[in-house]
Amino acid sequence: MSETIFSKIIRKEIPADIVYEDDLVLAFRDVQPQAPVHILVIPKKPIESIDQATDSDAALLGHLLLTIKRVAAQEGLEQGYRVVINTGEDGGQTVFHLHLHLLGKRSMTWPPG
Ligand code: 5GP
Repeated sequence: MSETIFSKIIRKEIPADIVYEDDLVLAFRDVQPQAPVHILVIPKKPIESIDQATDSDAALLGHLLLTIKRVAAQEGLEQGYRVVINTGEDGGQTVFHLHLHLLGKRSMTWPPG
């Protein structure tokens, strides 16, 4: 896959407000927040979208979800939160490096736009 802005954030070549990091994943605040808490959780491994993930990524995908839970607790989202994975053109994906949006501290509506 080609390089994205998130690769530069992983390598710390451009700044980001990082809220959690380990060997496999990075979590940082979205630059254009859509909720009072809006954090992106990404794998350090460059996977273009969930559609490009393979069986060998199963543990990593589980780790991404458990990171969501960890960061949600860190951010005090006891009232609940929403997790979004935009995928491909119809899914509204704009950055082609897999990322999970964690949105919280406001009441969400359904269906999404
Ligand atoms: P997508 O639309 O692909 O699901 O989400 C991409 C997200 O990345 C958007 O919410 C956008 O605001 C965020 N984003 C794009 N560029 C940057 C950046 O340079 N820094 C940060 N922190 N977020 C970014």
